[in-house]
Amino acid sequence: MNDVRSLSDRVLLEQCERFGREALVWRNRFRALLPEVERRKLYLKKGWPSIYVFGKILAGLSEEQVSESLNIAGRLEDKPVLKRLLESGEVSVNKITKIMSIATVENESELAEKVQIMSTRTLETFSRDVRNEAEYGLHVKKAECKTLFAQEANAFGFNEEVVERLKELNQKGIDINEALTAFLDHREEELTRAKEEVATSLPEESTRYIPVRVRNIITQEYGTKCAKTGCTRPSQELHHRRRWALDPSHDPNLIAPLCKEHHQIAHSIDVKVQEMRRR
Ligand SMILES: [Zn+2]
Ligand SMILES: [Zn+2]
Repeated sequence: MNDVRSLSDRVLLEQCERFGREALVWRNRFRALLPEVERRKLYLKKGWPSIYVFGKILAGLSEEQVSESLNIAGRLEDKPVLKRLLESGEVSVNKITKIMSIATVENESELAEKVQIMSTRTLETFSRDVRNEAEYGLHVKKAECKTLFAQEANAFGFNEEVVERLKELNQKGIDINEALTAFLDHREEELTRAKEEVATSLPEESTRYIPVRVRNIITQEYGTKCAKTGCTRPSQELHHRRRWALDPSHDPNLIAPLCKEHHQIAHSIDVKVQEMRRR
């Protein structure tokens, strides 16, 4: 048994990764069998006190993991694509659980692709985005918007000077909303102009490195937040909206700062996602 000691670090790590991955696949496959074991009450016939003991002794599963496995089976009955994916062991119960609230007979194939590409955390974000978008379209009533607006206005944390200056304008009979709208429009125009200027000054041959002046203008436009509407996480990665390989340009109009999860979501529509994830 000395030969493990003689392995290089690289080979040792490779083996750990491979065996770990395979262990997960086999465990997933075991979990996918549990609903049928339950249906037949196979564990009772063979003298096990419960399906939980069965799962624990045979595969080291916690009670929660057994319950999850049983739960998901009923919800997948009308979704053959997701069901087959689960049974293959390639995808965990946990991941499928994350998208169950948005899964339908119509979109299950599309979701099956996402489940294979995205991490569990990204799936959670993706699923929340889809639910929020649906809910926003359907339920947001005007009254709710108004309360929300009042809360938001307070949250800006205007300092004394700003409040004084706004008050002064107001007293002069100048419409604050108009003044602020004008300011916001002006800011947007300035940014558009500056972005054009940067875009036209970029060298034709470009490397993957994003020039500082492009980064600066993006920070001016987006601040430190992820560019996805409604996402409040800080941006972590700069994303090229067009595939870099097809259009190697750092035009700031085509770059968006994204959080890790939304970056993965943006790439999930791309078949080459595995390769792009490293960028
Ligand atoms: Zn990207
Ligand atoms: Zn985000």
